[in-house]
Amino acid sequence: MLTSPKLSVVSPCYNEQDSLEELCRRVTAAREAEVGADYEIVLIDDGSSDSTRSLIGKLCEKDPHFVGVFLSRNHGHQLALTAGLHTCRGERILIIDADLQDPPELLGDMMRMMDEKKADVVYGQRFERRGESTFKRLTAHLFYRLLNSLVDVKIPVDTGDFRLMNRKTLDELNRMPEQHRFIRGMVSWIGFRQVPLKYERHERFGGETKYPFRKMICFAVDAISGFSIVPLRIATYLGFICSLLGVFFLGYTAYSYLTGIAIQGWTTLMAVVLILGSGQLLVLGVLGEYLGRLYMQSKN
Ligand code: UDP
Ligand code: MG
Repeated sequence: MLTSPKLSVVSPCYNEQDSLEELCRRVTAAREAEVGADYEIVLIDDGSSDSTRSLIGKLCEKDPHFVGVFLSRNHGHQLALTAGLHTCRGERILIIDADLQDPPELLGDMMRMMDEKKADVVYGQRFERRGESTFKRLTAHLFYRLLNSLVDVKIPVDTGDFRLMNRKTLDELNRMPEQHRFIRGMVSWIGFRQVPLKYERHERFGGETKYPFRKMICFAVDAISGFSIVPLRIATYLGFICSLLGVFFLGYTAYSYLTGIAIQGWTTLMAVVLILGSGQLLVLGVLGEYLGRLYMQSKN
């Protein structure tokens, strides 16, 4: 197959042996109606320790529509997805998790929406998340709102990576050099015409979430640091606040000196500590500003 297929389905899999077969069955049913046989399914094994890898291998042997990407170890969801997005060749690309929380049956609606609204990206936006813990829902809810208050790019709330995009958008995404990737944010950043499709998120088909709390934190840090230099500005803000407080306190030490309540040497010592301290924070803030600019520049 040298010409590009109409549709690529890209799905990262990390220990998803329980869901793989059902994923293939449901994706097959969904794509049959839309694109017939003109498709490929790219499955990325993200260094799984169960039989996911061999299952993908078997699928590829049996059916040339399947493309397997095998990572050397567990590199994480976003990098696995990136590997798949660089491999796929389709004119339209559907990103879907392997755990079937996002229904493949929405493919038809997404395709139609893309045609009717002349959209470049149709992203799934969940209005309900079934079968997920209150903790997960709460953290996800807070996370998307915090993210939006910190970053300049409008990243739609309550969206995952579940989306259909066209080749034009994917080519732009693949040109972005970042190593710490937050793909849903990067797609928003690219622009073009992006429309939401509301849907209800289901429970996992099998297995359990591969995002324990530790990975969720890393993910959130990647997201915020990837799109915002606000954390770098913290030093500047702190510097200003401390300098202000320092001025007041300096006044107080001078007063103590003049009225003689201070023991010898205390005033000088305090003055040095305060001036150096706030000076350092301010300088750190300046460094932060330049670092932030350099960082944004390096992302091209
Ligand atoms: N995943 C992956 N590598 C990882 C963690 C997850 O490829 O290190 C895949 C996983 O197999 C699934 C998708 O990323 O297809 C989303 O993960 P998960 O469903 O565990 O996340 P949640 O839906 O709980 O946020
Ligand atoms: Mg999931």
